[in-house]
Amino acid sequence: MPRVAFIGLGRMGHGMAGRYLNASFTVTVWNRSKAKADELIAHGARWATSPEDAAIDADAVVAMVADDDASRAVWLGSKGAAAAMKPGALAIECSTVSYCHALDMSREVKSRGLIYVDCPVTGLPDAAASGKLTLLVGADAADLEKARPFLEPIGSTIRHFGAVGSGTVYKLINNLMSAIQIAGIAEGLAIAEQAGLDIKLVLEEIEAGVAASPQVIRHSKRMAARNFEGATFTAALRHKDSAYAVALAEQLLPISPLMGRAAVESYARARAVAPDDDEARMIEIVSRPKDAPR
Ligand code: NAP
Repeated sequence: MPRVAFIGLGRMGHGMAGRYLNASFTVTVWNRSKAKADELIAHGARWATSPEDAAIDADAVVAMVADDDASRAVWLGSKGAAAAMKPGALAIECSTVSYCHALDMSREVKSRGLIYVDCPVTGLPDAAASGKLTLLVGADAADLEKARPFLEPIGSTIRHFGAVGSGTVYKLINNLMSAIQIAGIAEGLAIAEQAGLDIKLVLEEIEAGVAASPQVIRHSKRMAARNFEGATFTAALRHKDSAYAVALAEQLLPISPLMGRAAVESYARARAVAPDDDEARMIEIVSRPKDAPR
């Protein structure tokens, strides 16, 4: 059976690792805090004492951690995975990282005789647990073919954008556009509420009209209901992605990205108030408290 090491068992990674168990892979797992691995261990995963330990004998190592710092730590830090990987093994980075980080990682990993696959994803934790993620791949075509058996259990759609880094470019623009829309719907709804509009009617028209995307429709309902249960994507992660996207925009565009900068600023506020809460909580940040004087 193919041997996979999975590193990072948060909202996304836990479900993704479970997909390999369902597909009868030999699975080794590591997470910074061990408790998140318990259910996977009960279902047959082997617990590793470090990313390095997890990577021994693995055909592929898959990481799904928070950001650049976490990614660097689990691949290249003390007891990082790369040190123990066998020559020609696959290093599949599914975390959303910055463009520069993806390129740096690729260089470091390749210099050790390993194959780097830039593979950020779209889809929420329920899609991760059911193998329905979209995988945004940046890799040489031949490397993608080698990685495909390890991608199919976790993704129902594989989009190959080109060389390493291109998957991350698409992921960052996807999340920046979403950030701008979500911050926008929070302000739009807050205005409608303060103006006394019938919010049920507002939501119906958002869904039927032309201004909304699927992202806006989903968040408008959660925001209007102040339903932030079961955080799927946090303010901290949205802020991180927006900042990475703006850093890339600063490199590529002739003028500073005003919309992107506004999204970063909006999510910096949300992150300061409730970093680990669902990003839909943005509505509370831009709204006047219900009992506040006008
Ligand atoms: P999460 O639930 O917050 O999990 C973050 C993971 O990163 C945890 O396993 C955490 O370990 C680990 N981590 C954080 N800092 C670390 C460090 N310094 N060293 C080692 N491990 C560290 O986040 P998530 O929602 O699963 O997101 C994971 C990645 O997927 C992020 O890059 C995110 O942008 C991306 N993503 C998320 C979604 C979504 O809907 N949630 C969708 C697409 C992509 P602990 O458990 O010990 O804290």
